[in-house]
Formats: sequence, C-alpha cells, structure tokens
Amino acid sequence: MAIINCKDCGKVCVANLSEQCAECRQKTWQAEVKVAEYLEAHQNSTLEEIHQATGVQRHIIMQMIRTGHISEGSVSYPCANCQAPISEGRLCAKCVGQVLKHFEPREQAAPEAERRSGEMYTRQIVMNKV
Ligand SMILES: [Zn+2]
Ligand SMILES: [Zn+2]
Repeated sequence: MAIINCKDCGKVCVANLSEQCAECRQKTWQAEVKVAEYLEAHQNSTLEEIHQATGVQRHIIMQMIRTGHISEGSVSYPCANCQAPISEGRLCAKCVGQVLKHFEPREQAAPEAERRSGEMYTRQIVMNKV
C-alpha cells in the first residue's frame, strides 16, 4: 500500500484518489456540501459571495467548478487576468481576444517578412556581382 503526504495538511496517509488524509477529505466534503446548499438558496452567486457567506476557501470552490460539482455558468468568479466576473474558463472574452491578438502576428507574419527581406538582400548582392 502506497503512503503519501496529504496535499492539504502534509500528514502521512494511505494513497488515495484525492491525495488527502481522511480528516481533510471529510473537511473538503463538508465544505462542498456547504457551498452546494448555499448555491441552492442563492443562484448566480459570485465566488467571492460564496466564500464570504460559507467561509469555504476559494480554491475549494474553484475546484468544484472545474470538477463539475458546480455547473459552469451558475457561479461567477474573477478573470485570471483582469478580474472581470466570468462564469466559464479561466479568462473573460476580452482577455481571450487579447491573448489571441498577441500570438497571431508573431507566429505567422514575422517569419514570413524576415524571409522575404533576406531573399531581396541576397538577390541584390548577386546582381551587384554580375
Ligand atoms: Zn490532511
Ligand atoms: Zn479578463
């Protein structure tokens, strides 16, 4: 039987799917129940509101959203980049757009332009020699 350290409190425990000791698993489970109950009474809450009202740590609430215990769209939480409220993914639509804009020209336009100016340069040298 494999022995691991609990990822929450570091205590040595038997390896399991959640990588937590029995005590922390119990705590997480209780926290999730609290969040679920709060959400039933207060739909469309923000991550912050749930955190304030239930005292449950933000990473546990985020984990519930990622694992599907809370359905995406029913809770809003801050965009990882600009803190705008979102309810899906990690970034708001604006930041996703900015990230895309940022990457496109570098990958496509730049190498192409460099190659062309390089070609012109070598052609000129050749012509000068002739
Ligand atoms: Zn633990
Ligand atoms: Zn954003």
